[in-house]
Amino acid sequence: MDYLPIFLRLEQRPVAVVGGGAVAMRKVSALRAAGAHITVIAPHLDPQLAAEVARGELRHVAAPFTPAHLADAVVVIAATDDADVNRAVSQAAQERGLPVNVVDDAELSTFIFPAIIDRSPILVAVSSAGRAPVLARRIRAQIEAQLPARLGALARFMGERRRALKSALAAPVRRRFWERIVSGPVATRLIAGDEAGAERAYTRELRAAQLSTVPAAQNAGATQNAGATLGEVYLIGAGPGDPDLLTLRALQLLQQADVILYDRLVSRQVLARARRDAEQIFVGKAPGESGQQERIHELLLRHALAGKRVARLKGGDPFVFGRGGEELEVLAAHDIPCTIVPGITAALGAAASAALPLTHRRLAHSVTFVNGHQGEGQPPSDWEFLADPRHTVVFYMGLGHLPEIVGRLRAAGAAAEHPAAVIACATLAGQRIVRGTLADIIPRVKTLEIAPPALLVVGNVAAFSADLPTEIPGLGATGDATVAAPASMAVETAGALA
Ligand code: SAH
Repeated sequence: MDYLPIFLRLEQRPVAVVGGGAVAMRKVSALRAAGAHITVIAPHLDPQLAAEVARGELRHVAAPFTPAHLADAVVVIAATDDADVNRAVSQAAQERGLPVNVVDDAELSTFIFPAIIDRSPILVAVSSAGRAPVLARRIRAQIEAQLPARLGALARFMGERRRALKSALAAPVRRRFWERIVSGPVATRLIAGDEAGAERAYTRELRAAQLSTVPAAQNAGATQNAGATLGEVYLIGAGPGDPDLLTLRALQLLQQADVILYDRLVSRQVLARARRDAEQIFVGKAPGESGQQERIHELLLRHALAGKRVARLKGGDPFVFGRGGEELEVLAAHDIPCTIVPGITAALGAAASAALPLTHRRLAHSVTFVNGHQGEGQPPSDWEFLADPRHTVVFYMGLGHLPEIVGRLRAAGAAAEHPAAVIACATLAGQRIVRGTLADIIPRVKTLEIAPPALLVVGNVAAFSADLPTEIPGLGATGDATVAAPASMAVETAGALA
């Protein structure tokens, strides 16, 4: 090791920062976060630093550096843009045996600043020993994405209970207990911001651990009784398919789930981001299949009640045509903790990858997501509202019902030229986009052999092109009665024709 990583306690300790510019300011804010008493030595100060001095947050010595300025410092930073001054600071500090950092100069420094990930009290420091700072920052960003924002709350929660737990549980059980806490529902609840839920889960875990010590005492080395521990469910939105569209929380939970129940619309690429040794169970519904939802409920309960961490992975968002609400009810009835992770719903993924804004000041001021599958749920009643081209309508599960949908919209007053687009396999390698109007979208979809999953988007925005601004009757500049997709973009298929 070129450097020994240590964490320095600087609360209330005097630190000298030589230099008053932007670089000094960055160091000052890091030192302030650690509670140091900072003196800035510089003839001139950056206005922001000057404001901090004015507020009494820093001391300022308005003079060129002399070694006497280091009299009471315990740590020294040189952050001037003058190499001679930096060298003088380094030398003076080293003569006094003080640790010194010269910004961007490892040779003159006796310590360096790592890149840090701050989830206080959890801190992660990354260093390349000054050799590849860009690489160290990149590693920092990767770790940053893996550590939940509320990790610090979990660490504090555990810290507050450590002492009490010592008397509640014997040493060998205690460690396993803490391991369950960091990887089970207590942690999940805290990370989701639910302190009360965490407290309840903790009480349950503690009771289970205490009960498990009875047989464990008679049978040394026995593991805890899995049946007594608490499982949990993560109801995760997997997004429209592209794994990079998963949320950070979805990834974090997929990395720790023991069992994954996934739908037909969850892409292979998304599943590949889950924990390798998790048990993956396909629970997709074939069209028209019944009884599958009951099987899902039964699997959720069985695994969660066995103490497993179960990820219920659904395409898009779990609460948009995903029956997530029903699964939540079943879990609540059995008092199983559940964490809901939103996902990018297909309409949003498709809008982004087809570059179709769902609302637009000139084109549409509202948007509705409709279940286009007439057999399931209630059919949308207000077709006149949906037929207004200034209102964007996204039909899910509508590909097989295109003629019916188009017929209903036309009957409710939509024009033949009413723009329509079908986006299939949005965000996936096989993505296809077909543009047209209510008059021709059906034959186009047929000719191009578009297959599900697909969305139908109707309304002015379906003719949107950033290159060819669309003029809208009543809203745009022309008095033209129709909005026709320009011939050049009437049919676009991304991927299929490429
Ligand atoms: N909960 C999901 C929707 C489930 S309903 C969500 O929020 O996205 C299933 C319908 O979603 C499909 O019939 C299709 O209309 C749409 N869909 C899902 N993924 C899609 C994709 N990648 N491209 C286009 N449509 C998709």
